[in-house]
Amino acid sequence: MNPAYIQDQQQLREGECVRCGRCCRLVFRCPFLGGTEENPTCLIYERGRPFQCAAFPIDPRDLADVDFQCGYHFAAPGEAPITPTPPLAGSKPNNFPYPVFPA
Ligand code: SF4
Repeated sequence: MNPAYIQDQQQLREGECVRCGRCCRLVFRCPFLGGTEENPTCLIYERGRPFQCAAFPIDPRDLADVDFQCGYHFAAPGEAPITPTPPLAGSKPNNFPYPVFPA
């Protein structure tokens, strides 16, 4: 994924993560997903989620992967978001066992 594209998309992203856990089960069940099916919780949310978690959703295609049931939505291109989302606050880029953007 192109880092510049992700940065551009962050400017269009509005809302906030409500920690529903849907994106934590897309490819596999994240080992840091705790709680119950009804009340999931990220065990490392406050301690620095991996970059790819903080970056989700990058665009509406990601929202489609969670049936658009997410605390985020996207402003239309060219439409300034009402409240710009800070760039991935709380995330620690590339701190997971694998880099997000291989060199
Ligand atoms: S689907 Fe959206 S609201 Fe739910 S945990 Fe992922 S980013 Fe947060």
